[in-house]
Amino acid sequence: MDNGSERWNFQGNKGLNASTVSVSGVYSMLMDSISNNVDNKKPLVRLCRVDPTDNPLLRTTHVAPDAVATAAHSINFNCYPPTVGLPDAKRAIANYLSSDLPYQLSPDNVFLTVGGTQAIDIILHVLARPGANILLPRPGYPLYDAHAACCLLEVRYFDLSPERGWEVDLHSLEALADENTVAMVIINPSNPCGNVCTLQHLKKVAETARKLGICVISDEVYAHVAFGSNPFVPMGVFASIVPVITIGSLSKRWLVPGWRIGWIATMDPHEIFQKTGIKTNIISYLEITSDPPTFMQAAIPQILERTNDDFHFKNLNMMREAANIFYDVCKEIPCLTCPHKPEGAMAAMVKINFSKVKDIVDDLDFCVKLAKEESVILLPGVTVGLKNWLRISLAVDPSDLEEGLSRMKAFSLRYAKMS
Ligand SMILES: *Cc1c(COP(=O)(O)O)cnc(C)c1O
Repeated sequence: MDNGSERWNFQGNKGLNASTVSVSGVYSMLMDSISNNVDNKKPLVRLCRVDPTDNPLLRTTHVAPDAVATAAHSINFNCYPPTVGLPDAKRAIANYLSSDLPYQLSPDNVFLTVGGTQAIDIILHVLARPGANILLPRPGYPLYDAHAACCLLEVRYFDLSPERGWEVDLHSLEALADENTVAMVIINPSNPCGNVCTLQHLKKVAETARKLGICVISDEVYAHVAFGSNPFVPMGVFASIVPVITIGSLSKRWLVPGWRIGWIATMDPHEIFQKTGIKTNIISYLEITSDPPTFMQAAIPQILERTNDDFHFKNLNMMREAANIFYDVCKEIPCLTCPHKPEGAMAAMVKINFSKVKDIVDDLDFCVKLAKEESVILLPGVTVGLKNWLRISLAVDPSDLEEGLSRMKAFSLRYAKMS
């Protein structure tokens, strides 16, 4: 007989702990190093998380809460929503997306999700099958790695080239794929890199994916958050070359990440997703997961149709201003290089030049010492897949950004290597 008290048939899902450097783990480590240093009385400056509501100047348009209040007061939206989403919300999102596409999307191509986060969860679960792998950008967005690990989908990383404005290294992409590769992910505008892909580059990505026989998951949670010279172009423009699954959200462009409204849109004029069963699978998966609240969905048509351009214009100006401040201060810090001025999304990557610093071993060490000595919290590059880089959020209170950058500068000069 087995010793009953020692034997259990269950155990934790190892996939859930696959990442050795989780964002939340690193965050608590940095917070600990601040509180362990009793001599440091500097107020905390967090440049680590991308939540635009941290910037008091970034506030949503009154159109949004008005639409939600109207929907909540109506008795029509107390019911369960259809699992694929409310028809009016699907139609409004299809129209909103179609205005940037060479063809009209049908509401049947749109599925409502609990933020962009649930969209990622759904897509990866739908594509996962034993032996399959997915190509993710490096640096990237850690939720993809976490969800892929959770559904046992193998992950392979292709490089983004900082010297070429963080474009996809197409050779590295092609070299990774095999007959078990099901999809690639592109994040545009990019968190964490802050670049916006050109039309020409997106076309090349589409052609490469076509050649490999894989679909493209285009994370466009930052759609239209483009404040440099490259305009935002959706990947769906090339959906006649390769089938595209677009992930969208109200969180970032409308500055309401807590409202948890996102969507999946399948862009696929040749109906490949229909033929391969992917679309049916998305619908089946939606039947077994939770949906965004009905009244929130009911507010979507008003939010998308009534928000005026001034609102977006003002926010883009604010982000451009933050990018300018950040880029100018970076140039004054010898040990940090920002290879590409941020032109979209709400974060940027900077490289640590170890030839110019002493007594710091890597990006994590940089962040721990910076937290301990200056109470500034940054995300080390390892958490987004790029060791010895740093990710900095630009969607913060502008006074925090300036204060944080000036302390980073003082810190870097203190650790500068004399030549
Ligand atoms: C914020 C973000 C998401 C998640 O979107 P939510 O709507 O907040 O769930 C997905 N992808 C990227 C690249 C993001 O920055």
